[in-house]
Amino acid sequence: MTGTADPLRMCVGCGGRARQAELLRVAVAEDNTLTVVTRRHGGRTGYLHRQQECWERFAARKGMVRSLGRNLGTTARALFVQQLKRLEQSA
Ligand SMILES: [Zn+2]
Repeated sequence: MTGTADPLRMCVGCGGRARQAELLRVAVAEDNTLTVVTRRHGGRTGYLHRQQECWERFAARKGMVRSLGRNLGTTARALFVQQLKRLEQSA
């Protein structure tokens, strides 16, 4: 085994690395909004820790998200963080 089954991914919030299973998977929709997707999602995805601290850090960043291949404005980021918080509250 080479350990590629569950590789380390970089969190787009803090920049730290974690196993895929410990992270939320994030994709950008056509309309440039961010959503949480399943592992089966095709295309480019980024990863984010499940901690609110990382969500806030992600929201505070600007510009290009390399793993998503997109430039994301602060509005799209803030909306996504709001969405994550609602999901967490309803869980
Ligand atoms: Zn993180």
